[in-house]
Amino acid sequence: MCSPVPKRILILGGTLDARRLARLLAEQGHHSVYSIAGITRKPRLPANVEVRVGGFGGAQGMADFIRSQGIDMVADATHPFAVQISANAVEAARNSNSAYARLERPAWKPTKADNWIPARDIDEAVSLIESGACAFVTTGRKDVAKYAVRTDIRVVARVIEAPMVARPEDWVYVIAVIPFNTEDELDLMRDYEATVVVSKNAGGTADAKLRAARILGLPVIMIERPEKPPATVVTTIDEMVALAAGEGI
Ligand code: NAP
Repeated sequence: MCSPVPKRILILGGTLDARRLARLLAEQGHHSVYSIAGITRKPRLPANVEVRVGGFGGAQGMADFIRSQGIDMVADATHPFAVQISANAVEAARNSNSAYARLERPAWKPTKADNWIPARDIDEAVSLIESGACAFVTTGRKDVAKYAVRTDIRVVARVIEAPMVARPEDWVYVIAVIPFNTEDELDLMRDYEATVVVSKNAGGTADAKLRAARILGLPVIMIERPEKPPATVVTTIDEMVALAAGEGI
C-alpha cells in the first residue's frame, strides 16, 4: 500500500478525541497544527505536534491563517457544544478553498433503566431542576454561573478548573479531569447526596456519570446537542484519518 501524501492539517481541538487524532495523523506523516482556544490554564496537549493557542479572530482570521500556513484540510474535532468555532471553520474553509471535515461522536442514548429529562439548552436545564434538589452538574465551567439564579438548590459542579465566578457558600466545586470511572462517580454522587445529574449530551467515553445515575436511580437532565452547520461529518477518528489520507469514507 502506498503511503499517503503528507498534508498540512489544522486540527481544531480541546477534546480527548482531538488529541488522539493529532497523534494518529502524526504517525501517518502529516504535519498538523493543533489549535485550542486557550481558555484553560493548563490545557492538555498532544505530544510532538505544533500547537497554537487562542482565537483566530472569527472566520476571516481563520481563513487568513489557513492561507498563510498552506493548510490543506481543517479537521474539526471540537466539542459537540462548541458551535461558534465550527461555524467559523466551515466558512473559513470555504473561503480559503481548504477541505473541512468534522468529527461528531455519536450522541448518548438512554436505556430503559434511565430517567432522562430532555432540555433544549442550559437555561432550560437549570429551570428543570426541582426545588430543594442537590444537582450534580457536569455542564462545564463556562456555564456554572447560570445555576446561581436557583437559590433553592444545592450545586455540586464538576469542573476542569475552578470557574472565575464567586461561589455561593453551599456550592461545591469538584476539580477533576477525565477519565472518570463508575465507582468514583458513585462515590461522588453518594457523598454529596446528589438527587439529580445535569449533563450535556456530549457522547463519547465520559459516560460513567450516566451509569452511576442509573445505578442510583437518579434522574438526568440531558441537554440536547445544538446544531452545527452542514458539512462533511465523520463519527470516528479512523474515518477522519482516512479522509486525510485521501481515501474517502
Ligand atoms: P465556541 O463557543 O464554539 O467558540 C468561541 C470562540 O472561541 C471561537 O469563536 C474562537 O474564537 C475560539 N475558539 C474555540 N475553540 C477554538 C479552538 N479549538 N482553537 C482556536 N480558537 C477557538 O467554543 P467553546 O464552546 O467555548 O469551546 C472552546 C474550546 O473548548 C473548544 O476547543 C472546545 O472543543 C473545547 N470544549 C468545549 C466544551 C463545551 O461544552 N463547549 C467542552 C469541552 C471542551 P475566534 O472567533 O476568535 O477564532
